[in-house]
Amino acid sequence: MSFYQKWEQTSWDDIQLALYSKGATDVEHALAAKKVEHDDFLALLSPAAQPYLEAMAVKSHQLTRQRFGNTLGMFIPLYLSNLCANECSYCGFSMSNRIKRKTLSEKEIRRECEAIKAKGYDTVLVVTGEHETKVGMTYFLTALSIIRQYFSYVMFEVQPLAESEYAQLREAGLDGVMVYQETYHSRAYATHHLRGKKADMRWRLEAPDRLGKAGIDKIGLGSLIGLADWRVDSAFTALHLEYLRTRYWRSRYSLSFPRLRPCTGGVEPVSPISDKELVQLICAYRLRFHDVEMSLSTREQAAMRDGLFTLGVTSVSAESSTQPGGYAQDNAELEQFAIDDTRATTDVAAAIRRAGLQPVWRDGLPGW
Ligand code: SF4
Repeated sequence: MSFYQKWEQTSWDDIQLALYSKGATDVEHALAAKKVEHDDFLALLSPAAQPYLEAMAVKSHQLTRQRFGNTLGMFIPLYLSNLCANECSYCGFSMSNRIKRKTLSEKEIRRECEAIKAKGYDTVLVVTGEHETKVGMTYFLTALSIIRQYFSYVMFEVQPLAESEYAQLREAGLDGVMVYQETYHSRAYATHHLRGKKADMRWRLEAPDRLGKAGIDKIGLGSLIGLADWRVDSAFTALHLEYLRTRYWRSRYSLSFPRLRPCTGGVEPVSPISDKELVQLICAYRLRFHDVEMSLSTREQAAMRDGLFTLGVTSVSAESSTQPGGYAQDNAELEQFAIDDTRATTDVAAAIRRAGLQPVWRDGLPGW
């Protein structure tokens, strides 16, 4: 049985009903619980938990420091290609968008790696659009062999692959894979993924199972906040994580909570999340999963990010460019979505230190 079967048996409406019927007593029970179960998690995610945000933040901070120490990991995305054979309503790389398309050559990959290395990074998240014929396994293996020469921890965020392909990439030195489900709501998924292989929801839902079987060190999950009711999507993300942890316990897990951002031809969120609610979500995840890693991207504004550094996240990106080749040379026409925190890496690292934490550049060190 893969997560697909579990997802099929779980009713979106039932979770939504359970979540919105939670009251103050349920939240207090969750806050007092030694082990926060899924039902407690629903209470912490619910509107009824909003008056308890401070208590949640205190607990989340304590649990994060106990497990991860006073450190915050630093990583940077490395965009290799904006070619894409999919049509996603919220993404500037969608195939019908008339943007300049670019796939980095081996020489250009080296130039990007050198530009990133000069900023001090040792952990990269390699990102591509999803175009399996032109940016598939042959390209990934070549790119990985170059990137590994520069960085000690390499993660991919590319199209979902077969188990044997993940195993091959792991052998070639791949450490982590982020495969965000975007939404667990089948109708919303169909509405926002109009053409291409990404329209196959099952293939994507089962990708983390394939990663677990292939023995990938770190598996990243998350939903794109705004496509459907963010509370219910986050409840499904938590169910997915719990399912994976019990089956593929050798892997580490990481959660992300990207908010829908403006992009070329993009859609407006149907379920926007406020800043306070984003804090609530991060704290609820931490109370439920003490040892899960949580990463924060530059989609958030600088002030918001500074406030979140101590509340539960364990790694942050900085100075991100979503354009292939964007570190060695600037070209805003190629970007996937607009970023909000545009500070230099050194400024973000200084803000982390001001928050009483130590920026860590290499994944896998104690405390991260
Ligand atoms: S979200 Fe991914 S798959 Fe969809 S258009 Fe953008 S790059 Fe392509």
